[in-house]
Amino acid sequence: MLGSQFTALPPLSLYIHIPWCIRKCPYCDFNSHEQSVAGGGLPEQDYINALMSDLEVQLPEFWGRTIHTVFIGGGTPSLFSPQAIADILAGVRARTRLSPQSEITLEANPGTFEMQKFAEFKAAGVTRLSIGIQSFKDAHLAALGRVHDSAEARRAVDIGLATVGNVNLDLMFALPASRTAGLAQTMDECEQDVREALAFRTPHLSFYQLTLEPNTVFAKKPPPLPDHDQAADMQERVEAMLQDAGYLHYETSAYAQPGRQCQHNLNYWGFGDYVAIGAGAHGKISTPGGHGNTAAITRTERVKVPRDYMQKALSNDPTSCVFERRVVKREDVGFEFMLNALRLNDGFPVAWFAERTGYPISLVSRALDAAEHEKLLDRTHEWIKPTALGRRFLNRMLESFLA
Ligand code: SF4
Repeated sequence: MLGSQFTALPPLSLYIHIPWCIRKCPYCDFNSHEQSVAGGGLPEQDYINALMSDLEVQLPEFWGRTIHTVFIGGGTPSLFSPQAIADILAGVRARTRLSPQSEITLEANPGTFEMQKFAEFKAAGVTRLSIGIQSFKDAHLAALGRVHDSAEARRAVDIGLATVGNVNLDLMFALPASRTAGLAQTMDECEQDVREALAFRTPHLSFYQLTLEPNTVFAKKPPPLPDHDQAADMQERVEAMLQDAGYLHYETSAYAQPGRQCQHNLNYWGFGDYVAIGAGAHGKISTPGGHGNTAAITRTERVKVPRDYMQKALSNDPTSCVFERRVVKREDVGFEFMLNALRLNDGFPVAWFAERTGYPISLVSRALDAAEHEKLLDRTHEWIKPTALGRRFLNRMLESFLA
């Protein structure tokens, strides 16, 4: 429970999860399920009905608030038909106050079948495409278990730019080059991927280091990867090349041309609110308190298996599709806020803390003092910003905010 009231509620976004992929990638720990498991074609209409039911039961929790951004993620949402995406967005518009200017992102993979649909996705209301390229080299793509090759990747970017225009490319570094031959990505290969990505001049680029996540095929049978120092050198090289090309490095893995930052992700990192619908989707909603009630931030998580999610969302009790509902405790709120906001390279206004947690900044002053003393962050009365050292040792800095 929070001990104070919000002066104003944080900005609101909507996350929609589409959980199917053609094949499960061996490094992936997202809630994604192989399409074949769905049996036959994707159950689009049942899933849309479930999404709308999930949304409707949540309406009282954010009634009257404007949704500023929508992110349709997965899984591979571009496996859905353009008509299904149009129906989902129409359903959202009919039930909520969706800003007419909202950024609406769709995650897409570069398969031939999907890229043919990009223009229709735009007609359906999508304003931004995030394309999962990962690498422009066939050896890396094969080692990552991706279903597309480098020619399809290039063609998908061209089509995305020609149709939707506002495009992000997701790429990774510190890759295996072969799952069997004991080779890892070299610095030269990493640079080639960066150069190739830059040649498209997309408004946004995301570069992630491949990490071995628990419960993945790679965690059980790790492929040959660049070592820690090589990966750190690649991170520095990626940053330098993208900054030299005029991209703002505004978050740990996110780079944008000026003014083209992802508004949806900025809302996450600014500890904004987000309604979530879909199998396994996580939501965060602040309620203002008053009338004898205490202000609260509530996090929710939905049933992960698509079939079970649909069954519960379409039952007499659609709230049963939420398997976890947790009110953020006073002792956790400082860490949860910083976990997001300290990822922003330019930092954040001090006022956000009180506005978005309901607590004064003094709640975390001891940890802020310690981080400042260790030169991990700079701060004034108005602004808090991680230093280059703080960005490098982000996890260490975050530990000091743990209760
Ligand atoms: S395509 Fe993306 S979401 Fe699907 S399995 Fe691969 S990494 Fe995971």
